[in-house]
Amino acid sequence: MITRETLAQRDADDPLAPFRARFRLPDGVIYLDGNSLGPLPVATIERLQTVVAAEWGEDLIRSWNKNDWIGQPQRLGDKIGRLVGAAPGQMVVGDSTSINVYKLLAAALHMRPERRVIVSQRDNFPTDLYMAQGLAAQLGQGHVLRYADPNDVPASLGDDVAVLMLTHVNYRDARMHDMAALTKAAHSCGALVIWDLAHSAGALPVALDTVGADFAVGCGYKFLNGGPGAPAFLYVAHRHQHEVRPVLSGWLGHAAPFDFDSDYVPAAGVKRMLCGTAPVLSMAALEVAVDLMLEADMSLIRDKSLHLTQVFFDLVSQECGNFGFAVTGPRVLEDRGSQVSLSHTEGYPIMQALIARGVIGDFRAPDILRFGLTPLYLRYVDLWDAIQILKEIMTTGAWDAPEFKVRAAVT
Ligand SMILES: *Cc1c(COP(=O)(O)O)cnc(C)c1O
Repeated sequence: MITRETLAQRDADDPLAPFRARFRLPDGVIYLDGNSLGPLPVATIERLQTVVAAEWGEDLIRSWNKNDWIGQPQRLGDKIGRLVGAAPGQMVVGDSTSINVYKLLAAALHMRPERRVIVSQRDNFPTDLYMAQGLAAQLGQGHVLRYADPNDVPASLGDDVAVLMLTHVNYRDARMHDMAALTKAAHSCGALVIWDLAHSAGALPVALDTVGADFAVGCGYKFLNGGPGAPAFLYVAHRHQHEVRPVLSGWLGHAAPFDFDSDYVPAAGVKRMLCGTAPVLSMAALEVAVDLMLEADMSLIRDKSLHLTQVFFDLVSQECGNFGFAVTGPRVLEDRGSQVSLSHTEGYPIMQALIARGVIGDFRAPDILRFGLTPLYLRYVDLWDAIQILKEIMTTGAWDAPEFKVRAAVT
């Protein structure tokens, strides 16, 4: 039997507890959507004021050199690399995750010219599939997407497969793939692997170099707390960097952009994957958030995330066992990422009723209530309070109101 007191004790013993004060969290809100848009770090406010007022306002164009705006994509890439197990010189930050999927998939297909199959999952986050579909159509060489069974990805691999493109942690049910085993399986049939770390970076330990990953992408605005529309990152393992051909061959990926030569020559290293001018303000916000996360021990983050997951499941069955909720995804905690989802036929209005009471999660079609568990600023008692509010909504039927059934553009 869990009580609010036992959870308050856990908070008192939590080594990550001091990080909560580093975020701006509104009163009356229990924020369970940091997996979709991380909250605002307090330090970001002042940093952005400085970048706007001093670096842009005073230093003007001199800032590209003076304040090293030009080095931002690589400097920040190396920092994010430390969070996902990539040694320096293999990551850059820029563009969106969708665009980075496109860039890396194009590069990978070019490295396997005899092969025509891209293996992914039907329940992958759709943009990854859409980008693959668009690229295949544009190439016009007969590339096809093959959907693997999530329980048996290796069964879909073979010597016709150019690329295995998977999201490490599924956005709906939090199922986590064994990155080391699947990378090895793909390599043993001659395929390359692109890992999408959208729901992994900043949420749990990742070891890109150790598992021998070829390529990876991920978001800046989810668990990394970089702010709305924060740029994404991409990773190209050292051993492939001389070989990757940038499909979006922009000037900042050129070997000598300020020579203004009319012919494209790719830069050495991962820098060639840069395209155009970086969003400096967004990058500055992301850098504050990544610096903050680098202060925390990722293994403590993972430990607390798993404990929060267990507490959430236990509280749902203890307090809300009779309301028709079903837990989705693996029951083995180690096979999960850092969010939890409940399926319910009335998922949409229930989530809107929660949000109206300050418990912010999100809804994923067709029937998923999704909650991000973010150890840096979430307390154990927050889960207790959130589940009590869920119980109240279900007991009173408060969710069954017309205003909660109107679908907004973003769910
Ligand atoms: C959130 C997410 C994206 C988002 O892509 P954007 O281009 O940043 O909008 C891509 N892939 C996965 C797996 C995601 O979860």
